[in-house]
Amino acid sequence: METIYALSSASGRAGVAVLRVSGPRARAALEALTGEGVPRPRMAALRRFSDPETGAALDRGLALFFPAPASFTGEDVVELHLHGGRAVVTGVLSALARLPDLRAAAPGEFTRRAFENGKLDLTEVEGLADLIDAETEAQRVQALRQMEGALGQLYEGWRARLVRLLAHAEAEIDFPDEEVPGDLIAKLGPEIARLQAGIAAHLDDGGRGERLRDGIEVAIVGPPNVGKSSLLNRLARREAAIVSDEAGTTRDVLEVRLDIGGVPVTLADTAGLREAAGAVEREGVRRALERAERADLRLVVAAPDAGDFALARPGDIRLLNKIDLGAEVPAGVIGVSAATGAGLDLLEAALAEKVGLAYGVSEHPLITRARHREGLRECAAALVRAGEGSEADLVAEDLRLAARALGRITGRVDVEELLDVIFRDFCIGK
Ligand code: GDP
Repeated sequence: METIYALSSASGRAGVAVLRVSGPRARAALEALTGEGVPRPRMAALRRFSDPETGAALDRGLALFFPAPASFTGEDVVELHLHGGRAVVTGVLSALARLPDLRAAAPGEFTRRAFENGKLDLTEVEGLADLIDAETEAQRVQALRQMEGALGQLYEGWRARLVRLLAHAEAEIDFPDEEVPGDLIAKLGPEIARLQAGIAAHLDDGGRGERLRDGIEVAIVGPPNVGKSSLLNRLARREAAIVSDEAGTTRDVLEVRLDIGGVPVTLADTAGLREAAGAVEREGVRRALERAERADLRLVVAAPDAGDFALARPGDIRLLNKIDLGAEVPAGVIGVSAATGAGLDLLEAALAEKVGLAYGVSEHPLITRARHREGLRECAAALVRAGEGSEADLVAEDLRLAARALGRITGRVDVEELLDVIFRDFCIGK
């Protein structure tokens, strides 16, 4: 196994830069840079780092040694906490490059080694990637939970139950009970049904975990001039949209990213829905309709002089804008004024409540990727077949397929072809 090294903190000027070295030569590399023995395991020690060839001073910083197997990768790992100047980092990286049997790490290679050494399962690897990408609090909570094994444990728990069922089915094949034929399903059926119900409930989550990971879409819809762009600007607290009193100025879909109660939201202002005159505007209307159709939540806007809530569907938030002009606000409608800011707090509270209820962090670990969903569907389908079967060897084969589908999610079985896809998204140093 080769020894790899990389800058693990972000590149560029910074107070501190962290370099990681992993592999059998990690210890020797640290000794070569410091000219003395490695610090006690997992204890930070102040060291002077010099170029092993020329003896030139490179930096003074902290060194840590994590002996195998109690390290992130499961191999010997060395961490250098250097001053985060470009020349310092370049100098130490080039000194490492000149040491025998050391090479720069490929993207995601530290994490890949951690996976291959059984330190993380695939769902934990994905959780780690999501944690690094998390932009909002709810995303962070979900990613951290997954990185700490909540999904992996759920799936491995189901897989262990499947393996026990499989053992029963195989025992039946090897030692058939001649006197009671067809007894197998009577014995295994209830447990197969329980597993199936658990997986079905987990699948029936409305895509909540995936939505939280990717961000949800909120569309502002309504006829021209009711103040949709003005409302978007208010919510975004900056001038994101062009506001004009000439009907049909928002010709395309304009969006801002917001953090609503910890959930990442893309708020899209859409071209006014009306009989469009020009071709460009017609295209805008088409896109607006499509966007509104896809949105997870819609804000339907009307004003005292224009629009109504005919478009509104159950679950939409209904807004009457321009209440500063004086108008009656119907029941079930939130009265706002993008001009004065009146009612904006009510709108924000309503948004936070709806978004939080539907997409906030839930009590149970959730599916966060299509990959998991596919594996679970495959598993559930095999369980249905197993529950309907009567031949012991066919039941056993379906149970085996069900277990394998779960094993692929956590990376327990034949995942070679998946690994490149999963680790490709990692950057160097992870
Ligand atoms: P959109 O076409 O629905 O996006 O509407 P705009 O945001 O472009 O606004 C259309 C016109 O209504 C502009 O002249 C705005 O200044 C005006 N407007 C927007 N919100 C309000 C409001 O709350 N009160 C008043 N009086 N005028 C508003």
